[in-house]
Amino acid sequence: MDQLGITVKEKTDSVWKSPWGAPNKAMSPCSLADVMSEQLAKQLQLDEENVGFPSNVDVNEPLITGDNIDTASDLMLAQMMQMEFDREFDTQLRREEKKFNGESKVSVSFENYRMVHPYDDSDSSEDEVDWQDTCHDPYRPDKPTTTPKKGFVGKGKNITTKHDEVVCGRKNTARMDNFAPEVQVGDGVGMDLKLSNQVFNALKQHCYSEQRRSARLHEKKEHSTAEQAVDPKTRLLMYKMVNAGTLEAINGCFSTGKESVVFHAKGGSIDDQAVPEECAIKVFKTTLNEFKNRDKYIKDDYRFKDRFSKLNPRKIIRMWAEKEMHNLARMQKAGIPCPEVVILKKHILVMSFIGEKQVPAQKLKEIKLSSEDMKQAYYQVLHMMQQLYQECNLVHADLSEYNMLWHNGKVWLIDVSQSVEPTHPHGLEFLFRDCRNVSLFFQKVGVSEAMNEYELFNAVSGLNITADNEGEFIAQIEALEKMNEDHIQKRGKKAPSYHSDDWGPLMKNSG
Ligand code: ADP
Ligand code: MG
Repeated sequence: MDQLGITVKEKTDSVWKSPWGAPNKAMSPCSLADVMSEQLAKQLQLDEENVGFPSNVDVNEPLITGDNIDTASDLMLAQMMQMEFDREFDTQLRREEKKFNGESKVSVSFENYRMVHPYDDSDSSEDEVDWQDTCHDPYRPDKPTTTPKKGFVGKGKNITTKHDEVVCGRKNTARMDNFAPEVQVGDGVGMDLKLSNQVFNALKQHCYSEQRRSARLHEKKEHSTAEQAVDPKTRLLMYKMVNAGTLEAINGCFSTGKESVVFHAKGGSIDDQAVPEECAIKVFKTTLNEFKNRDKYIKDDYRFKDRFSKLNPRKIIRMWAEKEMHNLARMQKAGIPCPEVVILKKHILVMSFIGEKQVPAQKLKEIKLSSEDMKQAYYQVLHMMQQLYQECNLVHADLSEYNMLWHNGKVWLIDVSQSVEPTHPHGLEFLFRDCRNVSLFFQKVGVSEAMNEYELFNAVSGLNITADNEGEFIAQIEALEKMNEDHIQKRGKKAPSYHSDDWGPLMKNSG
C-alpha cells in the first residue's frame, strides 16, 4: 500500500516539473489506496444524494421552484416515476388477488407481493399488515400437504391428523416464508425441515417484536426529519403542486407546531384562476403521536363520524386537513377574517398567507398593541366568536391568543382543524374553554371591558346559564350536552342546534 502511495507521489512530482509549467493550484498528494477506498466512494455517493434531499430547509432559499424541476431534481423525478410504476403494479396485483379469491369465504392475501409496503402506502386502506396472519403463499411451488375438511388423511392404522408432528413441523417450516423480509430464515425452507410448534411460536414472537421495534425506530426517524422539513412523500406532493403550476415556488418552513409544519409559498394559478400571491402550506404531521389525544374532536363530529370508524390513522390525519378546509370555508362565507382555502391534497392544506413579504402576522400573544387597538381586538374577537357560533354553527375549540393573528389592523382566526359544531357531545365544554382563554387573555392585557368567561359564554351561545360557581356552571353545560345526546338518540339524527327555546325547563331553572 505504502509503495503504491510513493509511486503515485513520485509521478506527481515529475508532472510538476514538466515544461508545460506549474499548475496554478498545488494539488495535495493523495494515494491510490485512498482513491480506491470504498469509504470515499460511499461519501461521494452520499454527497450526491444530499444534493437531492437536503435535510435542512434554508428559509432564504426556495425549497421547490418551477425552475429547479427538470434539472436539480433527477432523484425526485426518478422517485416519482418509480412510485407511479409501483402503484400500477399494486393495482394489477389487487385485481389478480380479487380474481384469485373470487367469492370464496377464505381468501388468500397477496399483500406480501406489493411493491409499496402498506406501512408507507398513503393510499392503502390498511396501515399495518399483520404478516403473522398472512395466509399461505399461493405461488410457492412446494406447498405442504393440506389436511382435508374431515381432519385426517389415510385409513385405519395409517390415519394422519392435522396435529401430526411431521405434518405440523413441515407446515411450520413453510410458514417461516411469511416472516418479514428482513428475517433470515436460511435455506431450511427448501429442505425437509420440521419445526416444532414451540420453536415456531418462539421464532414468530421474536420476529413480531423485532418488526414492531424497527417500525418504531422508523417512525422516530421520520419524525425527526419532519421537525426540519417533511418526509419525502410529502415533499413529492408539494413538488407536484409546483409542477402543476398551482404554486410558483415553495419557500422555507416558518412554523413547526405540535401537529403541523407550515411553509410559505408563492402562489401560481389553478385553471387560469390566480392563487393568492402569498400562500401558507399547512402540512399535517403524518407521525401519529400528536393526534392520539385528539380523537374526540373528530370521532364524535357527526360530519365525520361514519367515516372515522372505517379509517386507518393515516387517513384520519387527512381528515384533519379536510376538516380545517370545511371549517375555513364556513368562516369565509360568514365574513370572518381567516385564511382562504386554495387547495387540499391529502394531508396538505394550501391557504392564503396572513402576513406580508414572507413575514407571518404576529400572534396576539406576541404583539404589543396600544390599549385602544387591544380593546378593538377584544370587541372583534367577541363578534367573531358569535358569528362562528351562530352563523357558521361552529365552536373553535382551540381558541386562544396563539391562534389569533394581528394583520392589517384586525384579528384573524386560524387553526380550525379541531373546530366542531356546538351539538358535538363536548361542544359546549369546548366553547367554555375558549371563552375562558379569551376572557383571561384580554383581562390580563388590561381590557377592562372584557367580560368574564361566564358572561362571554352566554353572549356567544345565546344561552342563559347562571351559576354560583364554576362547578355548577360546567354541570349545567354537561346537562345540556346530555339532553342533546338523548335528543339525537331518540330522533336518530343530530339535533338542530342549541336555542334557549329548546331547553325550556333547564333555562327556566337557571334563568
Ligand atoms: P397548529 O395546529 O400546529 O398550531 P396552526 O394552524 O396554528 O397549526 O399553524 C401554526 C402556526 O403557523 C401559527 O401559529 C401561525 O403562526 C402560522 N400560520 C398558520 N397558518 C397561517 C397562515 N395562513 N398565514 C400565516 N401564518 C400561518
Ligand atoms: Mg395553532
